[in-house]
Amino acid sequence: MPREGTIYIVINMKPSAGWGLYPVVEAQIDHPRYLEDLVALARKGEPLLAQGNCRSYGDACLYTRVASALALEHLLEFDPHQGRLRAQAGITLDSLLRFCVPRGFFLPVTPGTKFPTLGGCIAADVHGKNHHRDGAIGRFVEELEMVLADGSQVRCSRREHPDLFRATLGGMGLTGIIYAATLRLRPIESSFIQMRTVRTGDFAEACELMSRTRDQYLYSVAWLDCLATGRHLGRSLVMLGNHALAEGREPLRLHSFRQRPVPFHLPGFALNSWSVGAFNTLFYRRQLRRDQERRVHYDPFFYPLDALSDWNRIYGRGGFLQYQFAIPFAGGLDLMREILGRIAASGAGSFLAVLKTFGPEEEGLLSFPLPGYTLALDFPLQGGRIIPFLQELTKLVTRAGGRIYLAKDAILEESDFAAMYPRLEEFLRIKRHYDPHNQFRSCQSDRLGLR
Ligand SMILES: Cc1cc2nc3c(=O)[nH]c(=O)nc-3n(C[C@H](O)[C@H](O)[C@H](O)COP(=O)(O)OP(=O)(O)OC[C@H]3O[C@@H](n4cnc5c(N)ncnc54)[C@H](O)[C@@H]3O)c2cc1C
Repeated sequence: MPREGTIYIVINMKPSAGWGLYPVVEAQIDHPRYLEDLVALARKGEPLLAQGNCRSYGDACLYTRVASALALEHLLEFDPHQGRLRAQAGITLDSLLRFCVPRGFFLPVTPGTKFPTLGGCIAADVHGKNHHRDGAIGRFVEELEMVLADGSQVRCSRREHPDLFRATLGGMGLTGIIYAATLRLRPIESSFIQMRTVRTGDFAEACELMSRTRDQYLYSVAWLDCLATGRHLGRSLVMLGNHALAEGREPLRLHSFRQRPVPFHLPGFALNSWSVGAFNTLFYRRQLRRDQERRVHYDPFFYPLDALSDWNRIYGRGGFLQYQFAIPFAGGLDLMREILGRIAASGAGSFLAVLKTFGPEEEGLLSFPLPGYTLALDFPLQGGRIIPFLQELTKLVTRAGGRIYLAKDAILEESDFAAMYPRLEEFLRIKRHYDPHNQFRSCQSDRLGLR
């Protein structure tokens, strides 16, 4: 939500929103096609935000003046021996997969959709189902080519300008514009995943299973029924997986282009505790056997929601909030019980509640992961009525030493933010050095006092 008292001037503007369709901000959007265009935009000295494909949920990708990276979509170099690729920041993960998979490589880390851009993923330092083993995407980034506030072009890495590098991984576009990145890929033999799915009676059993099998499976995630109560609180389907070995001379098959559309915004009344409850129960019961193993293509394993285009319309025109928090392992189960209990009691259940475990913290100063559990839930906005409830939950998360994911946020308060990101001061020192006039800013950074 734009910071109170901030005036956004509207000239030649278009409404623009993140994936949660909230908030909506009138924005002037430029589409630079070349590096020189980025330089010229930065040199204007006006407030500006780099934007990817708006797959962040809240206001992190929004500002009144935006440089969309979508036209910077080219692959620049590929080294098949080293499994290393250099690409412009606006290339989508979808395009990267189309190039890499037939050549026997996969993304080292991927979020739950293939439509974000490479630059957006680096700016949010995204995590996947393998964080407990591999960490976030930043660990696989070797070098960034950036345009800074004065229009200068800089390369940064762990050796060159390491401060800028650490502030840009997870830095939500606030240090400069990423023009291109060099990324290490993961070699694969087949485009399939050997997947094991286990139904658990409650979330504690899911957490225990994911912890116990962490060395056995590269990927793990649990889908929770967040309307179940009592002894079924947080009953789950846990999905564990590894890249499958090739079977015979099977080709490295790509995902399909087809998506089914959600043709219009559903009316608000379509989502209620009955429909969400029915969906969750069907989802939980969709597998007959308690423990089942099969070989599945990478697309339904990593990107089940991509089968529907515009699925965010299911929440209606009013939009929704995705609420994702991470909490330390110590005391984490009790806190999760408390939070899930409050959500189930409120009836404000979510279609999708996704639980993962995180490994160690990242080098990115504002990166989200911390060693512990992370849970992501969707809530229809209900005309804003849900906001105080979620802000209350955030107090619990903050007190427990946890944090909220900036790429999903639209409602975090400045004081909670400062308490949950302990390396904030160091980040701000670096931002002020490279961007002394706070040129790179977003609605979120204004709201959180990140300047
Ligand atoms: C269905 C779904 C599932 C998701 N699952 C996950 C998940 O599992 N794990 C996870 O971590 N995230 C997940 N996300 C969130 C998503 O991966 C991130 O929000 C990602 O940042 C979106 O990238 P984007 O290209 O759309 O960037 P945008 O949303 O447009 O922007 C996000 C941020 O990146 C900055 N940015 C974009 N491009 C540049 C650039 N060239 N230079 C500098 N800054 C830039 C923007 O300023 C903004 O702060 C999911 C999102 C969806 C919709």
